[in-house]
Amino acid sequence: MLDTNGAPPQLEKSYEITPELYDFAKFPEYLQLQQMRKKFTEQGISNPFFEIHEGITNDRTIIGDQEFINFASYNYLGMSGDPVVAQGAKAAIDRYGTSASASRLVSGEKRIHSELEQEIAKFLGVQDVLVHIGGHATNESTLGHLLNPGDLILHDALAHNSILQGAKLSGARRRAFPHNDFQALDHILGEQRNRYRRVLIAIEGVYSMDGDIPDLRRFVEVKKKHHALLYVDEAHSLGTLGATGRGLSEHAGIYAKEVDVWMGTLSKSFGATGGYIAGSRALVEYLKYTSPGFVFSVALAPGEAGAAKSSLQLMQREPERVAQLASNANLFLRLARESGLNTGLSKDTPVIPVVLGNSRLALELSLALKTQGINVQPILYPAVEESSARLRFFITATHTEKQIRYTVEAVSNELGKITSQRALGEASTNGLPRRQTSRRQSAHK
Ligand code: PMP
Repeated sequence: MLDTNGAPPQLEKSYEITPELYDFAKFPEYLQLQQMRKKFTEQGISNPFFEIHEGITNDRTIIGDQEFINFASYNYLGMSGDPVVAQGAKAAIDRYGTSASASRLVSGEKRIHSELEQEIAKFLGVQDVLVHIGGHATNESTLGHLLNPGDLILHDALAHNSILQGAKLSGARRRAFPHNDFQALDHILGEQRNRYRRVLIAIEGVYSMDGDIPDLRRFVEVKKKHHALLYVDEAHSLGTLGATGRGLSEHAGIYAKEVDVWMGTLSKSFGATGGYIAGSRALVEYLKYTSPGFVFSVALAPGEAGAAKSSLQLMQREPERVAQLASNANLFLRLARESGLNTGLSKDTPVIPVVLGNSRLALELSLALKTQGINVQPILYPAVEESSARLRFFITATHTEKQIRYTVEAVSNELGKITSQRALGEASTNGLPRRQTSRRQSAHK
């Protein structure tokens, strides 16, 4: 039989409809997750995720009824919990309510939105800004919308999940280039630029797992040479880089307009929730009328906009917060390196990993540190490669020197205890005589 176009019908697949196709509890992906959790429980390792924090998380946090020194939150400048910022949120809520109750395009627009956007644009030195309700959603929606099939997205190999999701959504070809390697990027573009229409290069101001910084000047040169667009995610660099916290452009001494798209989040240095896109008037106007994640989504909640606006004003009134953050991060990094801890690529940023090399060690060390009154999150496979499983320390401006010194010493001591216990265990199961193994030898090679 021929179909209406005169072509023979396609042979269609026939699925056997089993419960794993319609019962979540039988989804193979879910069973795999359960298997992994069971394995850790059997090994006596308790779940470090979804613990309930009873109050504000800054340099300290309360879990259950115990207070911990906290390194698991990116409240870099102490804005979340600051009374001035809280007052900014409360005033906005009192005036505008707790929800904008509609997309801005239709009836959700409030004065606080444009006030915040203008304030961010002025701070960064760009023509215009558009705020969104989430940082992840900002990347996903913007990248998904700006690029199309026939285009190419070249992203750093360590780019955040939200960049990858946005790239996928766009339908453009995706390709990773080696981390921070602008020369490899130049090479790829030299070979491939003219096979695609638009090409977008996506990098981050500070890498969220590794705490290092790209050479912006070089990336700008490469993007200009090949007529590509440069997209920089400043989630972890806004408020943390540059003498006044203006981020990667200030750090690199480059005019903000040299970058085509700046993206940032309101959830870190701004102490709120949300994201923004900053750049030219044309970019922002286009997104404002067409980007699905903006047009078909409710406006940023007034309280979040109020908190972010107050944080930005406070950051400008008190640049010493930015300086204190840099000084704390430098102290932590210096002490950690002096103790022989493997801090990977981290340099001059408040994201400092202690790379341990396997997920189990990362989990065990984070639990051991809990017993010493320290809260730090393990980062496990698949968030990073198994061989780079780690603890990730977010340093804040509110940490004290005493907290930092105590913590680095505790990390070093607890790691030493775990690795020598392991070495003893291995020696006894091998039937070898028990002997002490140097902690750093086994943990950091
Ligand atoms: N970009 C980067 C680099 C991030 O680390 C994150 C996660 N914090 C996001 C985007 C998403 O931001 P948000 O958590 O504010 O949605």
